[in-house]
Amino acid sequence: MTDSGQPPVPGWAPKHEGDEPQPDQARPTPPDQTAPFAGDYNATMRLIPVPPPSTPPPPIPSERYIGKYRVRGQLGRGGMGSVYLAEQPGLGREVAIKELILSADPVALKRFTQEAQVMARTSHPNLVQVHDMELQGDVNYLVMEFVRGRSLREWLNEKRVPPPQAFAVMHGVLQALDYAHRHAIVHRDMKPENVLISDEGMVKVADFGIARLMDDTGAGSTATKTGTTVGTPQYMSPEQVSSSKVDGRSDLYSAGIMFYELVAGQPPFTATEADGPFTLMAKHVQAPPRPPSVFVPGLNPELERVILKSLAKRPEDRFQTGAEFDEAMSRIADQMCPGWQRSLEPGADLSRMVPTATPAVPIPVMAQHAAGVVSPPQHVIYNPAPPARSVAKRSMSCLSLLVLVLVAASVVGALGASLIR
Ligand code: ADP
Ligand code: MG
Repeated sequence: MTDSGQPPVPGWAPKHEGDEPQPDQARPTPPDQTAPFAGDYNATMRLIPVPPPSTPPPPIPSERYIGKYRVRGQLGRGGMGSVYLAEQPGLGREVAIKELILSADPVALKRFTQEAQVMARTSHPNLVQVHDMELQGDVNYLVMEFVRGRSLREWLNEKRVPPPQAFAVMHGVLQALDYAHRHAIVHRDMKPENVLISDEGMVKVADFGIARLMDDTGAGSTATKTGTTVGTPQYMSPEQVSSSKVDGRSDLYSAGIMFYELVAGQPPFTATEADGPFTLMAKHVQAPPRPPSVFVPGLNPELERVILKSLAKRPEDRFQTGAEFDEAMSRIADQMCPGWQRSLEPGADLSRMVPTATPAVPIPVMAQHAAGVVSPPQHVIYNPAPPARSVAKRSMSCLSLLVLVLVAASVVGALGASLIR
């Protein structure tokens, strides 16, 4: 525990100078040559046990401030720059500060400003709250709620997520998306790196750095017109790959990929390093996902149906809202894991959501893999984790062409094979 009664900073929050007493505070004040008795230093030395003058004072640590926030360490690095852990003096509040290393690209700045405005206007327990913005030199900083915990990516990298907790994570994600979509915000980069799980078991969706306003008027319009498409190949929706026009249903597809990964232990589409991201993107457009029961034999068929519906190629065949997706999932969760906890519901036992908690209810079929019934997940391949880097493209024409060529090549190949037969 720290002095503030907070639990220690977890593994992904670095050790930082802020935890130790500041050497400059302990350092004796050097004698002021203008003050009275300045020349009588030795006399002072006789009375106060300070180090002799020959001992050089310890170096003053170079404290870094971003605006009024004192930087305590680096939390990580993403596509836009570093994320720092900092403290708001006075309040003693810990904050996460996201840096935007400004390129000459005005679109990047616009994107960042939009993130700040959009997130500052919203407030939801499943969204990382934006507190403030700072400009230092020509670097912009977004000051946000610090989520003490870890990302879903880190959790996934460690072990399989048990079903009740997988449902609870998805419940939080879908609630956050539903809220954001109702406010005309599309995330566009939903991935496990952007789902933070607090030590209290709260699910918080972060990084609306590439979110845009959906309507064609106001802040969102210019960025939309540039045709910029952003996303992470593993989680990109078909429409994100093939056009820059996306709506909330694109996020729900990406959430569906995460759900698949949580249930099956691996994402539906993979590609080798050599294949590269474009193969992966082409699969989102063209390849039907393998049913998750391939990896989890005996998987609840209703659950399989929900997952596959969320991965429909055409947005109109998917769940249309986060709430609809959540309702369908929650109905199955009620059957499979009676008593599973929705972390936000009043009275929910949050401790049951934390990764180390053991579910009190026996877990049906979905957990068979844990008992060794299922073969271990295949080697994953173009699953750029951690961290999955976003891709940003100024022009879609090149990519669309590539994807088209790949899709056409596989169709010709399949035709050729059937003709030979
Ligand atoms: P990415 O999402 O691509 O990993 P980001 O720039 O969003 O990149 O974040 C980098 C890392 O900083 C994240 O992986 C996470 O560990 C950490 N991080 C981001 N936002 C927060 C936050 N609000 N609280 C705590 N940690 C955060
Ligand atoms: Mg992020």
